[in-house]
Amino acid sequence: MNAYLQSVIENVKKKHGNEPEFVQTVEEVLSSVGPVIDRHPEYEKLDLLNRMVEPERMFTFRVVWMDDEGKYHTNIGYRFQFNGAIGPYKGGLRFQKNVYPGIIKFLGFEQVFKNALTGLPIGGAKGGSDFDPAGKSDAEIMRFCQSFMTALYRYIGPDVDVPAGDMGVGSREIGYLYGQYRRLKGTFENGVLTGKGMSYGGSLIRPEATGYGAVYYLQNVLEHEGESIKGKTIAASGFGNVAWGVCKKAAQLGAKVVTLSGPDGYIYDKDGVVTDEKINYLLEMRSSGHDKVKDYADKFGVEFFPGKKPWTVKADVVMPSAMQNDVHMEEAKQIVANNIKYYIEVANMPTTNDALNFLRQQKGMIVAPSKAVNAGGVATSALEMAQNSERLVWTKDDVDEHLHHIMNTIYKMSVDAAEKYDLGYDLVAGANIAGFERIAEAMKEQGIF
Ligand code: GLU
Repeated sequence: MNAYLQSVIENVKKKHGNEPEFVQTVEEVLSSVGPVIDRHPEYEKLDLLNRMVEPERMFTFRVVWMDDEGKYHTNIGYRFQFNGAIGPYKGGLRFQKNVYPGIIKFLGFEQVFKNALTGLPIGGAKGGSDFDPAGKSDAEIMRFCQSFMTALYRYIGPDVDVPAGDMGVGSREIGYLYGQYRRLKGTFENGVLTGKGMSYGGSLIRPEATGYGAVYYLQNVLEHEGESIKGKTIAASGFGNVAWGVCKKAAQLGAKVVTLSGPDGYIYDKDGVVTDEKINYLLEMRSSGHDKVKDYADKFGVEFFPGKKPWTVKADVVMPSAMQNDVHMEEAKQIVANNIKYYIEVANMPTTNDALNFLRQQKGMIVAPSKAVNAGGVATSALEMAQNSERLVWTKDDVDEHLHHIMNTIYKMSVDAAEKYDLGYDLVAGANIAGFERIAEAMKEQGIF
């Protein structure tokens, strides 16, 4: 490996030993870009890599809120504005009890490359809080969001930094956050947040976009292999907004998702999550706050496997759509043993690096990386920003068509980037390189920063 590259990775390992998720994503991304560094010696002179692994700005803030009994609680809020070279910082907020700087940093770093890969003018950021939404009342969520935004509003804006949702932050939270932003600023700047409700500037298809985009990407991969999506079975994990969109688009195109998972285990539905009733029920399960996928098994009389993940199930396609490090080495071996040809990551960093490398080495297996596959979500957020600044609303078909086109372009850019550096058909390296090239050029042209 290129010596400069190696030294940057070593530095990150030394400096961030207590943030393993961040080290993991830096190693994953940078291990792809060696050929680019070799071809562009000026990047080392400009020390681009050390600059890229250091967020432009990151801050934490105190978020104090009162529960329904009048008790005070104190959480930490985070916003890491990682890289703004190609556009305003953009990326979600995650509210989850295990949030700590290493999680926000890994997500922020991934976001920079993902956003660049969309071809749209959006920089990368991430934020959130160690607040645990489980079991909180609506009023508690509202007070928390108001307090969070009171601390954050000075540092964001439609041309500065545009947060959105992620785990634990959906349209309800975005609504409360925006209400507080508007109250504090006294202006209707709704381009400051994306994932909004339709009544105040949200975009049609944004809720579905991540899942829809993932299936459009899958279609590109299948087409490359001369196969059709019709009749394919998909083993997915998770049952949140992303898995929901995957189920919906897969069903529309004649494929079926046969597994879903939660913290309590997984369900197997041999008929697939294909009817409107089943697909809509996922939304109910999510908003109930139970966080249990067993509810699906109880309602539809399908099998439930407590405490297990769905990676032993035989299907045509695997789509991990839950969270980071969902597939480890053992599970990757199981997936290979089951002769699954398509491994399509959907959640951010769902695979450990050793498992990912193992899967990539399998002959005949196609591995697609999450930063390309799930980029339809943030891309549609950029379409929401465009609509807000144009002060108009696009039709559902308009947004869906744009999304479809963007996903095809992301796929093609990845394929081309890998070919350009003689790496063959390598969707993982291609995605990293395509994103990297765009950011590197913008940083180079903008001088010291
Ligand atoms: N949290 C989503 C992601 O990981 C969406 C971010 C956004 O829409 O800004 O890309």
